[in-house]
Amino acid sequence: MTEVILVKYGEIALKGENKSTFEDMLLKNIKRRLKKIGKFEYSRRQSTVYIEPLDGADIDEAVCSLEKVFGIGAIQRCAVFPKDFRAVVDSLGEYLADALGNAKTFKIEAKRSDKTFPMRSPDIQQQLGDAVLDAFPHLGVDVHEPEITVRLEIRDNGAYLSAKRIIGQGGMPVGSSGKALLMLSGGIDSPVAGYMMAKRGLVVDCIHYVSPPYTSDRARLKVEKLCEEMTEYCGDIIFYCVPFTEIQEALRDNCPEQYFTVLMRRLMVKIANKICARDGYGAIITGESLAQVASQTLQALNCTNAAAELPIFRPVIGMDKIEITEISRKIGTYETSIMPYEDCCTVFSPKHPRTRPKIEEILEAEKAYDFDKMIDEAVAKIEVKRFKYGEKTVFLD
Ligand code: ATP
Ligand code: MG
Repeated sequence: MTEVILVKYGEIALKGENKSTFEDMLLKNIKRRLKKIGKFEYSRRQSTVYIEPLDGADIDEAVCSLEKVFGIGAIQRCAVFPKDFRAVVDSLGEYLADALGNAKTFKIEAKRSDKTFPMRSPDIQQQLGDAVLDAFPHLGVDVHEPEITVRLEIRDNGAYLSAKRIIGQGGMPVGSSGKALLMLSGGIDSPVAGYMMAKRGLVVDCIHYVSPPYTSDRARLKVEKLCEEMTEYCGDIIFYCVPFTEIQEALRDNCPEQYFTVLMRRLMVKIANKICARDGYGAIITGESLAQVASQTLQALNCTNAAAELPIFRPVIGMDKIEITEISRKIGTYETSIMPYEDCCTVFSPKHPRTRPKIEEILEAEKAYDFDKMIDEAVAKIEVKRFKYGEKTVFLD
């Protein structure tokens, strides 16, 4: 009996003429992930990717890895049989023992996509149900809320029996929507924002601003660690680290304190603009959430937006901190995010920030200094690092 993984598409299944472009990208992303685990054979048919482990490659590990790949609707482990109902019945006791041995209830779902198969779906369903009950007499049937659903699919190239189906991440394959630059701080929100946009098919690379000696090496390391953790979902990430100390000092020394936060945010965006133009990013992403802090009022966000030359995506804009935190726990960035290292945003942060700044006031305040020159200097000094999926290089105790 051969065991394989069937990967069912998520939203890709709804695509029209350009569907195969998305399928190609998904398959490429899947292969890249599983390469680290072992050898697999791949094929693609009927909106499904078939993955067969070769040379003893670990199927459990492969499933775990696929759970984090965007574009996948469901992951199903199946035993493959020739299209012979008897063969399925003869082996189901052995194959399903693991899943059904301790279960109480089950139901059957049968699907016949090969319409030449002589039995119709309701008949398959009935007879397979009887066979399962023969093999596992302790089970009861529950068609509404079964503990386990046993599926038999008669496809073009075989009969697939399965009792293990995992809901995939959904979304679109990373890379199918282009690439964007995430402003990554050490907080909870921005890694979640990056995850959410990668889920819509963007390659997400990260830009981070540091202000040594006001911010420490460890604070930067924490953000690098977040990048590394994000690769689990986003794939490889380029990390741009921007020296921001001189800009912040110039702001402190030349501009009214109450505007400091918005001015700083605008300068961050202006630097991101340059990187986007130079390296081909189509949007900026931030972890801003409306009304979370003074710099995230409608007026302040509008002042930040006015500095951007590309759209700013803010996927968590309408989410509560609790909702964002939940996602951050799920994707595994939470524990790193709550490590208590300072961010450059908290350096020189004003006691009484203007919560409803007007763009005219901001533009006026910005004239106090030649920030354009400083922006170019900062861009020239950016350090770039690459974080590869599955590689652990950053250590924080
Ligand atoms: P997070 O939003 O990540 O939890 P936070 O809420 O402490 O952190 P804010 O000060 O609210 O961060 O900043 C809002 C957004 O600005 C962040 O989500 C992030 O996108 C961006 N940002 C803040 N500080 C930095 C930084 N040092 N480098 C890059 N981007 C930053
Ligand atoms: Mg925030």
